[in-house]
Amino acid sequence: MKQHEVPPLRYCKGIGEKREKLLHKLGIYTGKDLLFHFPRDYQDWRTIADPPQLLAPEKTAFAGKITGIQSRRARNRKIHIIKVLLQREHLYLPVIFFNQQYLSNIFAPGKILIVYGKIDRGRYGLEMSQIESWELLERVEDIPERAAIQPVYPLTNGLTQHIMRKIIRNAFREYREQITEYLPSAFQESFNIDSLSETLQKIHFPSSEKDIQSGRFSMKIREALFPVLYWEMKKQQTIHQPYSISYNTELDPLRDFIRNLPFSLTHAQKRVLQEIKDDLFAHLPMRRLLQGDVGSGKTIVAFISALFAIYSNQKACFMVPTEILALQHFKNLTRIIQQQGLENKIRPITLLGSLSANEKKKVRRQIAQNEYNFIIGTHALFQEKVDFPDLAYVIIDEQHRFGVAQRGNLIEKGHNPDVLIMTATPIPRTLTMTLYGDLKVSILDELPPGRQKVHTRLVGQNNTGKLLAFCRSYLKENGQIYVVCPLIEESEKLELKAATRAFEEYKEHFHPYSCGLLHGKMNTKEKQEIMEAVAENKIQVLISTTVIEVGVDVPNANFMIIEHPERFGLSQLHQLRGRIGRGSERGYCFLKIQGNNSQETLQRLQVLEKTTNGFEISHYDLEFRGPGEFTGTRQHGFLDFQFLDLATNLPLISKVRHAIADLLTKDPSLNKQENQPLKQEFVRKYEDQLKYLNVE
Ligand code: ADP
Ligand code: MG
Repeated sequence: MKQHEVPPLRYCKGIGEKREKLLHKLGIYTGKDLLFHFPRDYQDWRTIADPPQLLAPEKTAFAGKITGIQSRRARNRKIHIIKVLLQREHLYLPVIFFNQQYLSNIFAPGKILIVYGKIDRGRYGLEMSQIESWELLERVEDIPERAAIQPVYPLTNGLTQHIMRKIIRNAFREYREQITEYLPSAFQESFNIDSLSETLQKIHFPSSEKDIQSGRFSMKIREALFPVLYWEMKKQQTIHQPYSISYNTELDPLRDFIRNLPFSLTHAQKRVLQEIKDDLFAHLPMRRLLQGDVGSGKTIVAFISALFAIYSNQKACFMVPTEILALQHFKNLTRIIQQQGLENKIRPITLLGSLSANEKKKVRRQIAQNEYNFIIGTHALFQEKVDFPDLAYVIIDEQHRFGVAQRGNLIEKGHNPDVLIMTATPIPRTLTMTLYGDLKVSILDELPPGRQKVHTRLVGQNNTGKLLAFCRSYLKENGQIYVVCPLIEESEKLELKAATRAFEEYKEHFHPYSCGLLHGKMNTKEKQEIMEAVAENKIQVLISTTVIEVGVDVPNANFMIIEHPERFGLSQLHQLRGRIGRGSERGYCFLKIQGNNSQETLQRLQVLEKTTNGFEISHYDLEFRGPGEFTGTRQHGFLDFQFLDLATNLPLISKVRHAIADLLTKDPSLNKQENQPLKQEFVRKYEDQLKYLNVE
């Protein structure tokens, strides 16, 4: 919910200025937001109503009167210990709190303390020392009221479970009346789910396991609903928007272009081009996803397909995630154009974020004046005001790097252009179907001839000596090596530091061979210089952060070392190793593991030793790491599900999609009275994204 909505948190019971700030940190701004701050787990406190029992094998709750409190420092003085003795009927239980000195001012003999944790056998009998939550009561008579399933909320430093529970309990009492259902009743009935208010009641204050189940089920449907609605509406609007691009069906120039390439296309490339052609000549805008493993030759397919537009006197644009890649594509395309003497027909230009305002203005003018007809660029393409009056064809490379809204933004610049989305991170078929039901999929399932599989091995610490010796013998024969530095998601600064350190180390190891460093903080010119030096084999060892990941193509580099591979997703590692083995030589990829890794981590990495099939690998990723890897929306919160599990709930999402499609057939713009609440909620949730959809 947005900040401007009433009522602000300060007006809620139990919240002062300090707690308000803490709640903001959790993304909670209004009293109603509190109701949508969901428990991440539950604790069963029901047992405290019964006659007390100890020796529970699982975690348990215990309630008792405080009969003694000891507060002291441990011998090494670093740890502060409070020991509280609790008594209930005939039972005594010592409970121990570490480093929470302030508790000695709160706990007082005679009060009732409820604690939840694991009971262990200590030196002097049973005790509880890992306390996960606690609550203080005035009287024994208050215990039964607390004997319930207690929610466990995500917290931030300075808030306790106990406070959060109290705040949310109050908020629920206060705002429950204001919770309005947005689901059309027919929808609610067909899925047989609780009303929103009942759902929230069950999620926050379940009285049984069954309540938790049905609350969660209802939330799953509700979570799936809006992204699905978004895609379905988008699909309908794409289809119903005017589409007026017509392509020249005279194909000879294209055939010549293909015939004059230095290699012949693979069967898969030819097949995909045919699929694209069929789409372009149909009277609907194309929405096609091209999946092809790294090295399968997507770029040339994209180039050729763009010629349909260019030879029809239209413009094409090619959007890529990094400037290096844009420049590389530009260079390759320019080379082919020169080889074939097509300078007058195909006129490419790069449009990059790093250009000065003046340069950009100039490029834009030249594009408008039709001096260029093939625009290759990065995010700058859609972040700024660029007019593409006759943009017919849009190619989006490595789509998982772009957010949903960004894609929409560029597409809006043309008049419903044809769109080809390319990805090397194969999205499992089930996931594409469910999420982007309207996308047609083409698959490049064949590598150009002569390619050998990249040989991948995990290397432990005691084998690094051997690895380095192997590297040196390879360098001696003029080979080139990539070293990929560990991914540090939290901080680019730390990442740079690690890369610089690795650079110094490898420089020493590989003296006198030349080493270079490439990282994200460099500007495009610096990066470009480094990459050129690599392409010319002036740099033999390139130490790099993950900026190397996408698309870089240096056929002579066939050796890769990846530091801390456990920090990467498998698909990401597969992408990385796709940088090598691009020529006819065999590529070697070494995953350098250090320190202690769990069995699970090792097993996960071993998948890469066993297979080079990107689809198989992505399947493992989906199981291990969830879908964020594929959708490119992790940062955008578009598919941030708390209840839905994309690995197991796809059939459920599918059902929701059918129901939504049904709903939209009857009421395409959700204008009917009974669908108004749904529409309002949709608009409220996706305000930003909806700028690109016509939802008034
Ligand atoms: P990706 O699918 O990973 O983007 P690229 O398009 O970069 O792959 O292609 C990888 C390499 O294979 C490039 O050097 C490209 O020129 C080359 N290539 C593409 N198609 C063929 C082909 N049919 N025969 C031989 N080489 C090809
Ligand atoms: Mg590529």
